[in-house]
Amino acid sequence: MDRLNDARRTVTILGATGSIGRSTLDLIERNRERFDVRALTAHQDVEGLAGAALRVGAARAVIGEERLLPALRDALSGSGIQTAAGEAAIVEAADEGADWTMAAIVGCAGLRPVMAALRRGGTVALANKEALVSAGAIMTQASEMSGATLLPVDSEHNAIFQCFDRARPGAVRKITLTASGGPFRDRSRKEMEAVTPAEAVAHPNWSMGAKISVDSATLMNKGLELIEAYHLFPLEPDGFDVVVHPQSVIHSMVEYVDGSVLAQLGSPDMRIPIAYTLAYPERMETPCERLDLVRIGSLDFRAPDLERFPALDLAKTALREGGGKPAILNAANEVAVASFLDRGTRFLDIAEIARETLACYDPPAPASIEEVLEVDAEARRRAWDITRKYLN
Ligand code: NAD
Ligand code: MG
Repeated sequence: MDRLNDARRTVTILGATGSIGRSTLDLIERNRERFDVRALTAHQDVEGLAGAALRVGAARAVIGEERLLPALRDALSGSGIQTAAGEAAIVEAADEGADWTMAAIVGCAGLRPVMAALRRGGTVALANKEALVSAGAIMTQASEMSGATLLPVDSEHNAIFQCFDRARPGAVRKITLTASGGPFRDRSRKEMEAVTPAEAVAHPNWSMGAKISVDSATLMNKGLELIEAYHLFPLEPDGFDVVVHPQSVIHSMVEYVDGSVLAQLGSPDMRIPIAYTLAYPERMETPCERLDLVRIGSLDFRAPDLERFPALDLAKTALREGGGKPAILNAANEVAVASFLDRGTRFLDIAEIARETLACYDPPAPASIEEVLEVDAEARRRAWDITRKYLN
């Protein structure tokens, strides 16, 4: 018997027009009878948002940019779909408390909405790793207080979640995150000096939004993921390790004290971890390509090169030092990536801007979301100042 069919679940997608949002919508559209869409949100893409809201029959569509509300109203006129705009309206949509909420806004901009969903309880599928990096302890505490179920969508963390024996956390010795190594895996520092945004966003294995694609190229993504893993799984900071695995077939591994290593494998398609969180604790069908190990032939592994990819080392240090450092690292990286994509700073400047920002600002550990957002805002101001130097 398919227990998923027993009751329709209400779902909300924060960041519905992005790469993760669209993959989530694809699964929901294939299973319309199982899900009632409460709300879809987006930043600026009126057409994408309105189209998705009509296709899935969403109750509400919310656009972040307030000036775009008239366009959204036009696009949805006569549909009966409620419309709203602005940051507060996105938080309100999250606060409405669907049974299942996908947190797929990119960056620290997703923090307030994901906190609203966590405080409501229900299931929160978390793709928005930047929020957890900046405010990990506060988010996990909020979720414990409300009884929310926090399920990781990031493929590595979803893999670990599937392999981690939560009843016996003391039996786990080590967690190893796999990293594809990104598009510049085999390039020297010299060769990386002149890479363009277009080259940096062309990931060999995964199709993703621009920011995370650049993070994958610098390996900052893996650094953010180490911090993300620390907040999701109860090990000390040195219990997490990274191995480069170019094929992206093994999505991560959990080693137990007896020497057993459990891993989760699958095709590199984000619909697999998203489906895991949508159906949890059951399983659902996906249209994803089945894993064919014979066709793949061999799997390779190597240690990450911290000299060519210093961002990973910065994240390890920020994780060890704790306090406000992870929030500063994340904010500085968001600024440095935006500057690389839009303003002409160079690829290798990204880690340098993050390093300098971390060195010049050391606030006490933030104890509330408001304090996290203050650290985030101050770190951004400082990072933009530092960025100017790299533009000259
Ligand atoms: P994306 O850029 O494709 O989409 C981002 C979404 O967030 C869009 O819907 C956009 O409208 C919305 N958004 C952006 N800025 C906003 C703002 N200021 N206010 C409100 N909404 C805003 O990004 P993505 O690749 O889908 O990634 C989303 C998140 O998931 C990121 O945190 C990323 O690290 C994480 N993630 C993505 C993948 C992937 O395969 N794409 C894998 C693992 C984790
Ligand atoms: Mg990942």
